[in-house]
Amino acid sequence: MKFQTKYITFEFTNQKNMNNKEIIDRINAYQHAGFVHELTCSVDSSHGALIPVEKNGKVVLKCETCDHIHNYIPEFATTLSPDEIEVIKKRFISYGFKFD
Ligand SMILES: [Zn+2]
Repeated sequence: MKFQTKYITFEFTNQKNMNNKEIIDRINAYQHAGFVHELTCSVDSSHGALIPVEKNGKVVLKCETCDHIHNYIPEFATTLSPDEIEVIKKRFISYGFKFD
């Protein structure tokens, strides 16, 4: 399924059809995007951004503060590829938004 917005066209791929590396790359890009709120720990959201790791052949989200494992990865966190996130970032920058 193709999504067309004013600035970007992206192909929607369901997580089920991605390999683990692709899921991890997408989550890492999402977690560092700077224009969305990161996925955080369900134990305590002040624990910092969750890290995607492979566990028993499946990608899970790990809290580096309390080691809690989150098995559910929301589809929105893997919707955009790292390249697509860069395109959106550049657009924000062109509007004067500053990323750390
Ligand atoms: Zn935690």
